[in-house]
Amino acid sequence: MRATLSSKNHSYRLDVSNKLFDTTILKTVILCYHKVGTEAEEGRWLNCAPETLASHARFFQRFGWPGILPRQFMASRPKGICFTFDDAYVSAVSHAPEVLEASGYRGAFFAVPSLVGQVSSWDGDMARPLATWGELLGLVGRGHEVGNHTFTHRRLADLSLDEQIRELSEAQKMLSDRGIRAETVCHPYGSFNGDTLRAMKSVGLSVGLRLAKSPVYSESTMELNRIVVAFSDALPKLLYKIYVRPKLP
Ligand SMILES: [Zn+2]
Repeated sequence: MRATLSSKNHSYRLDVSNKLFDTTILKTVILCYHKVGTEAEEGRWLNCAPETLASHARFFQRFGWPGILPRQFMASRPKGICFTFDDAYVSAVSHAPEVLEASGYRGAFFAVPSLVGQVSSWDGDMARPLATWGELLGLVGRGHEVGNHTFTHRRLADLSLDEQIRELSEAQKMLSDRGIRAETVCHPYGSFNGDTLRAMKSVGLSVGLRLAKSPVYSESTMELNRIVVAFSDALPKLLYKIYVRPKLP
């Protein structure tokens, strides 16, 4: 198929052929979602409609991309598509597993342990409910991953090394106390610095996910790039973000 992609100043034609997506050039793409609901339920801010997520999953399934979870980066450098969901919103936990599983995929949900079962205090007037411990354990039981999104969702780059260690270790402990072994971390707001990597090492976390405009990731599994998916990212725009935008000057 052919897709015409538009950015602010340019439009592109992308030849989406089987060859482009065949496994010989398969790469690793990690996508970052937040809420998953209809516009009526969740608005557009950091939300993706379930049918849009379903179209993404069906596309990668159709072209044979294996599904990968962040914890797999601990042992290897897998290639494939990775679906991640920050904050473990109720809407994401309610819709995404079923949508992904329909295409044979699983996802990774990053929880803020001090606020599990409460609301997203960092969203101000737009605070939304966060999954309960029971819902998080249910995800694990279905083969999804639950990761560490820090204890209180603060900007790590604003904190001292000791504070960063506390944010990561208290989250690990609370998750563990509830029966969830978190093996990976994603940084709130994509905020991190050199001390974050030291804090991760001291807590024993070797996989860290950040936000970026390119799917290309560094050699270090502690700094894996993710592409943020917006409400308007229907399939052609998502492909633009993966294949075209990183090549723009
Ligand atoms: Zn977050």
